[in-house]
Amino acid sequence: MTNTTTYNIASIPGDGIGVDVTEAAEAVLNKLAETVGTFKFNFTTFDWSSKKYLERGWYMPEDGMQQLSKYDAIYFGAVGSPDVPDHISLWGLILPIRKYNNQYVNVRPTRVLPGTVAPLAQCQKRPQDIDWMIIRENSEGEYAGQGGTTHENSPDTIATEVAIFTRVGIERIMRFAFETAKSRPRKKLTMVTKSNAQRHGMVLWDKVFHEVAKEYEGVVEWDKMLVDAMTVRMVNKPESVDTIVATNLHADILSDLAAALAGSIGIAPSANLDPTRKYPSMFEPIHGSAPDIAGQGIANPVGAFWSAAEMVRWVGQGKLDKVADDFMQAIENVTSNPKTRTKDMGGSANTKETTEAVIKQIDVVF
Ligand code: ATP
Ligand code: MG
Repeated sequence: MTNTTTYNIASIPGDGIGVDVTEAAEAVLNKLAETVGTFKFNFTTFDWSSKKYLERGWYMPEDGMQQLSKYDAIYFGAVGSPDVPDHISLWGLILPIRKYNNQYVNVRPTRVLPGTVAPLAQCQKRPQDIDWMIIRENSEGEYAGQGGTTHENSPDTIATEVAIFTRVGIERIMRFAFETAKSRPRKKLTMVTKSNAQRHGMVLWDKVFHEVAKEYEGVVEWDKMLVDAMTVRMVNKPESVDTIVATNLHADILSDLAAALAGSIGIAPSANLDPTRKYPSMFEPIHGSAPDIAGQGIANPVGAFWSAAEMVRWVGQGKLDKVADDFMQAIENVTSNPKTRTKDMGGSANTKETTEAVIKQIDVVF
């Protein structure tokens, strides 16, 4: 008899298509576990969503964080509703989970999966020119949520929003970014700021970056870009980019750009990591609740599957890397075929058909 490891996963489907893609991801992960046979997943679903917020006035119960702390990882769908302002839903659920659980790194891999029509093809760029790893600072900066006020004074209303950057916060994200770059074949890191216009936080980013860079001399090749110039470079010279590190706000924007350049926001994954492993990390597709297509069963579940693959890699702590790679292969076999990929990728399948196709491919690949 083989030993089976059980991974306990807190599942938060949330709103809109988050519900569809989470259900699909759980089905695929259960199939993966059953096929490999050395581990299994035990999902517990939490009904924390905007729909529930509208009914009961809260997103998470008071002991919500304590409840989550018992799990090996958190799997998240999406949160957002046309009936709740975005800043309420974000601060009701996802931002507090990231903060409380020390998830100071947000990792967003970007590649063009087979079958995707990437917009850059029109500028004679090859799909393989996009192979990026965006490292987003996930705990402070522009989303620190501290010290902001709105003064409703005469003669004008003044709103302030404070971006907070700490040396500790910057140093740990730089180190993570250099280690990530070092682990990738090209070993290149681009550090992004807006230090020409923002004279304190961004200048500290520059300073700490240079200090940490010294430790990687001759190991990681690096350069620096202003965020505005970086958007141009990602379009015009995608092949010159490998690993990117940027602030909470800048990396959020760059990763949506990256997702669009890779062909669809529906395929892009993300991982919110606590590298110390003291708290659970959280895995979620980068897309939102997409109310325009919610309830139609047509959402692309690939971003959710890819996030699930990253969760497998994380909980496996090195033991399941091959399983995660093979799982990605199964997903790519499905996106290669127009009959099994969804409409946003120029295919004809719905969520259920793509999910069933991945389940079949797991039998083929493993
Ligand atoms: P939220 O307010 O929750 O962020 P949103 O309206 O911003 O939701 P997103 O999910 O961020 O919606 O995506 C923008 C658009 O991209 C959607 O309206 C939808 O048309 C499309 N889209 C996003 N995700 C997917 C997906 N998984 N499959 C297909 N289309 C998608
Ligand atoms: Mg959105």
